[in-house]
Amino acid sequence: MRIECIAIGTELLTTRRLDTNSVWIAERLAELGLALHRKTAVGDDRADLKALVEEALRRSDVILCTGGLGPTFDDFTKEVFAEALGSELVEDAQCRAELEAWYAARNRVPSANNYKQVLIPAGAEPLRNPLGSAPGVWWRDPAGFPGRRIVLMPGVPREMKRMWADHVQPRLAALAGAPVHTLRMVVGGVPESTLDERTGPVRKKHCDLEWTILASLTHVEFVVRSGDAAALEAARADLAAELGPDLVCTGSGDLESTVLAMLKARGETLAVAESMSGGLLAARLTAIPGASEAFLGGAVVYSAGAKTQLAAVDPAVLAAHGTISEQTTEALATGIRARLGATWGLAITGNAGPSVDPQGDVERANPVGTCLIAIAGPGGVESRRFVVPGDRPDVQLRAAGWSLDWLRRRLV
Ligand code: ATP
Ligand code: MG
Repeated sequence: MRIECIAIGTELLTTRRLDTNSVWIAERLAELGLALHRKTAVGDDRADLKALVEEALRRSDVILCTGGLGPTFDDFTKEVFAEALGSELVEDAQCRAELEAWYAARNRVPSANNYKQVLIPAGAEPLRNPLGSAPGVWWRDPAGFPGRRIVLMPGVPREMKRMWADHVQPRLAALAGAPVHTLRMVVGGVPESTLDERTGPVRKKHCDLEWTILASLTHVEFVVRSGDAAALEAARADLAAELGPDLVCTGSGDLESTVLAMLKARGETLAVAESMSGGLLAARLTAIPGASEAFLGGAVVYSAGAKTQLAAVDPAVLAAHGTISEQTTEALATGIRARLGATWGLAITGNAGPSVDPQGDVERANPVGTCLIAIAGPGGVESRRFVVPGDRPDVQLRAAGWSLDWLRRRLV
């Protein structure tokens, strides 16, 4: 079965808006064990859309569209499909009643062009949109195109997702046959190529499963899919044994949520002092709901003054060793831990670049990409230095990720 996705909207062809709907839909299809064969973004242009729809009708069994269902002049998705399929648009009485109720609930009356939204191609089925005013369309076996399924959904991601969950996913699941199970495992602190090599034998042993390996700046993710739950569980056990302490979590979590959960389970707390990462670590931790149960807070200690005043670093240490040094980073971790009374203090310094003085002493000793991380805990303080590739945001993100992964390893 060939499935394609069409994202409609001129803004999707500019730098202003990314087509995230198709990415989300591809992920949902994969969960159903269905593959997406093609995706296209097209502007709000009748002729372009018509040509694309005609192509899609020739080559695909299922066409999933988002956008262009609204009331304005540049919304004509239903009209173009009706035209391409030689069908009429007819008003749907229930949709009309729902549209009027939707407006009444907001103390407004629909304008004339809103009624355009309740026109549905003859032979198609309207899909309710509880979060917006534009209904969607499910169109099965249109005349002249037996076996085709056409799905028209709103462009607004929130509305599309709800319509998908309520109406589209159940209908597509019926086409997909047996359910597909997904296993996700997150690995920290191991380069993708090393991981690829190390896990080769496990993947070979379980080669009937569908394997994906996704690297990001802070971690690597394995996504494994199969219709056979027992086979997936066997692969999970083998992969977990191979990964050992490199495995961050299995399922939907990430590095941040794992570290916070571990701290919480131990009744421990964390404070951070961030120089080079500028608060990124704190932002990532506080993005997790319930972070306050383990994360006390921290300081962005960018200047020398901030380091001494907020994290109690001895000015003599700074003067003797400079900012990007084991001594200062350790003093930051120890200082913030003491200031906030935390079990653990984590500090990050380094040189995120770009290089300002390539010939200078500081740059020579600490080239762009240098990250220094210190962890202060009940057993004392330790630091590590490494140099990572990438531009400024990459270096900052890697440092935040590495520091969390190192703390995680200490907690394992
Ligand atoms: P609807 O079908 O719901 O009426 P529309 O095309 O008429 O959609 P727009 O005003 O074009 O509505 O889009 C609504 C919002 O949804 C905009 O912010 C738009 O950028 C966003 N959007 C539309 N399509 C996508 C997409 N494929 N991915 C991400 N965002 C999208
Ligand atoms: Mg649009």
